[in-house]
Amino acid sequence: MNRTRIVAGNWKMNKSYEEGRDLAKAIAENLQPSETVVVLAPPFIHLRGVAAIAEGVSNLHVAAQNCHQENSGAYTGEISAPMVRSTGAEYVILGHSERRQYFGEDGPLLADKVKAALAAGLKPIFCCGEPLEIREAGAHVALVVEQLEASVFDLSPEDFAKVVIAYEPVWAIGTGRTASPEQAQDMHKEIRDAIAKKYGRDLAQQTSILYGGSCKASNAPELFSQPDVDGGLIGGASLDTKEFMAIIGSFPA
Ligand code: PEP
Repeated sequence: MNRTRIVAGNWKMNKSYEEGRDLAKAIAENLQPSETVVVLAPPFIHLRGVAAIAEGVSNLHVAAQNCHQENSGAYTGEISAPMVRSTGAEYVILGHSERRQYFGEDGPLLADKVKAALAAGLKPIFCCGEPLEIREAGAHVALVVEQLEASVFDLSPEDFAKVVIAYEPVWAIGTGRTASPEQAQDMHKEIRDAIAKKYGRDLAQQTSILYGGSCKASNAPELFSQPDVDGGLIGGASLDTKEFMAIIGSFPA
């Protein structure tokens, strides 16, 4: 099955404007043309600058890390999906566990954000994943399926086809503790089966499902060789050009 392979770098709240441009330039210069889609998700204020750098590189794309659910209005400090799209960004990360945990974003709010993003022509990278206590209780599959049902499973098949899923176990994000390749594969297969149940086997087979959580150059080859792992959402390791480039080159031949 020829699913799109994606490596997305989530810079979180890191890098000054100049530093962000330098990182994006270094990645653009080192990136070989290939079928792997590389997505950079810098802070909002960097989006236009990074999008301008990515413009000349066919497989380099840009994402926001969040967007508001309304298109415009009196929401001081917020950024809407059409505003993100107007910078040249094509993707938006939604449902990251840090947004869920620190900003109280829940399933219904994320459903609205996903719809706003799609209406603006953005492709959502929708994050799901369980905290440690849920995994230890053996309820991780049920929780992740619930997260999908709450925010993306009421989309039309046409809209769902534009969504990228990122499975990010919360206990692995920024902790240095990575899911084992088997744990990642098991959950990705559960996610693909849930998509198949909702939208049918074909659409499920076409959906890119990324793994996120302390993914780095040393563990990416094993993770990316799992049959249902179509790439990664990379936090810390995306801030270092050499490390990020090595992750991009980690897919099996
Ligand atoms: C993330 O924030 O999406 C992430 C996976 O972070 P890290 O790679 O640092 O664990």
